[in-house]
Amino acid sequence: PPASKGSISTTSWEKDTQSIPRLQIVDEHQKFTQDLPAYLEKWNLGDAGFKYNVVAVFGSQSTGKSTLLNGLFGTSFDVMDENQRSQTTKGIWMSRGRGMHVLVMDVEGTDGRERGEDQDFERKSALFSMATSEVIILNLWEHQVGLYQGANMGLLKTVFEVNLTLFQTQKSKEKTLLLIVIRDHVGSTPLANLARTLQADLEKIWAGLSKPEGLENCKIHDYFDFMYTGLPHKVLLPEKFNEEVANLRCRFNDPAHPDFVFKPEYHKRIPADGYHIYASNIWDKVLTNKDLDLPTQQELLAQYRCDEISNVAFEIFSKKLIPFRKPILEKAQIIEDLGVQMLSIRKEAVDSFDKNASRYHQGVYEKKRSEMLTKLNIQLNVLFVGQLKNLHKKAILTFDENLKAELKKPNYNFAVAVETCLKNSQELFLNGAKAIILPDTEWSYVNELNTLEEEFSQASTKARTDEFKKMTKSLAKQVENELSEPVTLALNDPKPDAWHKIIQTYTKTVESGQTTLDKIAKSFNSSSKELEESISDLRLQAWLVLRKKIDEELADTMLLLKLRTRFEEKFRYDDHGLPRVWKPEDDIDSHFKRAKEDTLTLVTLFAKINLKDDEGFEIESTEDFDFKQSLIVLSEAKQIDISNRFKRESDAFYLEAKRSVVSTTAK
Ligand code: GDP
Ligand code: MG
Repeated sequence: PPASKGSISTTSWEKDTQSIPRLQIVDEHQKFTQDLPAYLEKWNLGDAGFKYNVVAVFGSQSTGKSTLLNGLFGTSFDVMDENQRSQTTKGIWMSRGRGMHVLVMDVEGTDGRERGEDQDFERKSALFSMATSEVIILNLWEHQVGLYQGANMGLLKTVFEVNLTLFQTQKSKEKTLLLIVIRDHVGSTPLANLARTLQADLEKIWAGLSKPEGLENCKIHDYFDFMYTGLPHKVLLPEKFNEEVANLRCRFNDPAHPDFVFKPEYHKRIPADGYHIYASNIWDKVLTNKDLDLPTQQELLAQYRCDEISNVAFEIFSKKLIPFRKPILEKAQIIEDLGVQMLSIRKEAVDSFDKNASRYHQGVYEKKRSEMLTKLNIQLNVLFVGQLKNLHKKAILTFDENLKAELKKPNYNFAVAVETCLKNSQELFLNGAKAIILPDTEWSYVNELNTLEEEFSQASTKARTDEFKKMTKSLAKQVENELSEPVTLALNDPKPDAWHKIIQTYTKTVESGQTTLDKIAKSFNSSSKELEESISDLRLQAWLVLRKKIDEELADTMLLLKLRTRFEEKFRYDDHGLPRVWKPEDDIDSHFKRAKEDTLTLVTLFAKINLKDDEGFEIESTEDFDFKQSLIVLSEAKQIDISNRFKRESDAFYLEAKRSVVSTTAK
């Protein structure tokens, strides 16, 4: 190949030595060279160990890449002849930087795009240089900034993608510096602005990569550092150009330079004597990789355009969803025709995508279409889940309300009422849920339904307990009412069969309570065991109510009153119920004694519930209840105490009687 004609000859730096030999490490037939070890020796780098650096260049054809490398490193890569516009020899070239321990790689390809070829070789060589170099010079014209295709961004996407899959997964993350050189930088747009545009493009590309498993969330900054610089127009401002190139060179050979590019962290840690094997292995891997063969120019264009079309459609789609968000997600409302609306909004988005995107490469279009559908469904799913939650709430609320209303109706059956309400609420949920499941999704309401059913069962258990409590409470009231009066009557005018009467009342009360319980059990759909338990509970509760009533009736004052009444009846009234008028000949003493004794028999009667006429009557004892014990009404001590108190009271009657005789006699 002809020697460089564009070499820079203005500084002493280039003049001093003869040209440095260069090597075509990959030839036009994509074969890797055998001569690299020999050339490393020639370049005096065979024994360099880790003390060497590698830099490569990346960019469209004829953007002055070789010119730049020659200017920076004193190499002699082929530069296209302005007059002949002859092709340079295809392949990857390598040389050593003059006066630097730097391996410089130049890539020469055909201008694939101009000639309608795919960019097979460019992709392979770009990937190769990215995997082997510490610094990549990304070379582009200023006017290419912001042009996806023009700046080879599509190509870069593939290279990023495959680089990530092939070379970044196994080993520890190794950073590479992307030094972006903007050529023919006029200066009217400041470098910082151009840099911002490019950085945004790069990050957009990175976001759109299909990343290997486990690296889904990796960032471009995990793998690359960035540096931006501009160069003036070489033909119009040759001196300025040379000056800036010389400045840029300092970043490569002056470790003290603030922007020194060869930071240790970029080094691949391959000793120079192993570089040949390392590089040729990478080339093999690159050659055999199928992913690289895939995207043709057409596909790259399709990817780019489909993404754009999809983004536009998605934006419109997102706006249409906004009005639904607040009512569903914040106000817990249920939107009646949500399913229909979601379907129509989704269809509109897909249709608008189809209209423009279907003209592009079919495979890419279909893949992007399904990606877009997934993206749409993710957004819609938020509304689906929201509405499902609202339906759930509504179902629970409706259940509670309906049940309350049912239990207000006369003669309701509780079990039937619960069943009806459950069925209605469940239907409300199911109908609502089914109506918002869109086709082509894997949405499901099963989990929500399961939770709902669990809550239903909790709610009905609670309703049952509450209702049951209400019922038993009213039963207790009924028992109390039925027992109260007969007990009072039996104890106020105590006959020898008083206890028998009371037990009879008790039995009758329990029987009527049992009838009520039977009704309740039917309403609650209770089991016979439950019913049995309720009955034995009723027997005990009724007995306790009875005992309480007896205790009230026979509390000290009440008891004394009863004794006094009986005594007065006997002592102060005659057999015809007329008050006695004592005469001197009356035997007051024996009257008094008889009346007193008769009255005191009441204490014995009251002392214990007597079951002599109710043999076999018994309430089952429990841990806290002893039936035998419950029969005792007055303790021995109480009996003595009450008897004494009564005797004292009766003495007053005796004295009064005596006095009345004395006074009548005295008249
Ligand atoms: P490569 O294909 O990217 O390696 O580009 P070359 O280095 O072979 O240069 C292609 C053509 O662009 C040559 O005719 C160069 O003289 C010319 N050229 C090189 N550098 C510049 C530059 O900075 N600005 C302009 N406008 N032309 C340049
Ligand atoms: Mg070139």
